[in-house]
Amino acid sequence: MPARHSRSFLQLGYHGRVTCSICEDTGWKPITIDGVSRVIRCECWRSKSASARTARANIPTRYQHCSLDNFEAYNESLKRAVDYAKRVVAQFPVRIGERDSGLLMIGLPGVGKTHLAVAMLRACIAKGGSGLFYTTSELMSLLRNTYSGQADTTESAVLRDVSEADIVVFDDLGRERASEWRDEMLHLIVNSRYSNRRPTIFTTNYDVGEIDDFDSLQVRVGLRVYSRLQEMCELMRLDAADYRERPTNANVDDLLTLWKLRKKTLPAPRSGGGRQARAQLKPAKAGRVDLKWPGGRAGSS
Ligand SMILES: [Zn+2]
Repeated sequence: MPARHSRSFLQLGYHGRVTCSICEDTGWKPITIDGVSRVIRCECWRSKSASARTARANIPTRYQHCSLDNFEAYNESLKRAVDYAKRVVAQFPVRIGERDSGLLMIGLPGVGKTHLAVAMLRACIAKGGSGLFYTTSELMSLLRNTYSGQADTTESAVLRDVSEADIVVFDDLGRERASEWRDEMLHLIVNSRYSNRRPTIFTTNYDVGEIDDFDSLQVRVGLRVYSRLQEMCELMRLDAADYRERPTNANVDDLLTLWKLRKKTLPAPRSGGGRQARAQLKPAKAGRVDLKWPGGRAGSS
């Protein structure tokens, strides 16, 4: 029976069984919008390519499990942060908040900045975007290595990838060794993200601080980059315990206790000071006037 034969040929395909009954493994499925027929990507293509894109995103092994669902938000600061992160994902690929392309997360080491950043990155990749994760010092080393001729990539290839990815996380901003070359590179990279209005998430242990404080973010990243960050980023402060100090099998109560202990043991804020990861990281309060950051404050309300 020819008709039946051709149907089974279609279902089975040349190489064997069709795995997706919706698109018959073409990766495209027909839909009708306002009476007009068109094709869109099938779910099977999304999930297959999402895992491939996640694998290419350079997420460190220790953070690969991080999701918004397994982020433990045990205080107001963390709850606001995770709510905000969910909004970023919901809006992706359009924009991040009112500043439209950037999010700067400031907080002491171990409060969960990287977890949250990776969770947003992974969720956006799952929605169909391409994404990349770099600590800024790792990115700088990678770029430097390309000059040796020994690397299997080139400076322009690295810069192109970082510039064109739909969403990028730059982790631990300000830790990389400062130099004129670093300033140029960082500016080039941040600027390309900004110009293309592509969602970019920065995390840092350094608070905004003052211009005369060597350990302030503005000094660590240089004024040109800092001013670009101000233009493009919502500012989010995370205030929590150091996750790495938690006892084995710690529960939420342990983390709360650790957090309260941390608040007590921090030195009192130095007037005008913004030294690394200390003291300035008060919980963001609604309507609080922040350290001369002109933009929106993510999750502050
Ligand atoms: Zn399919």
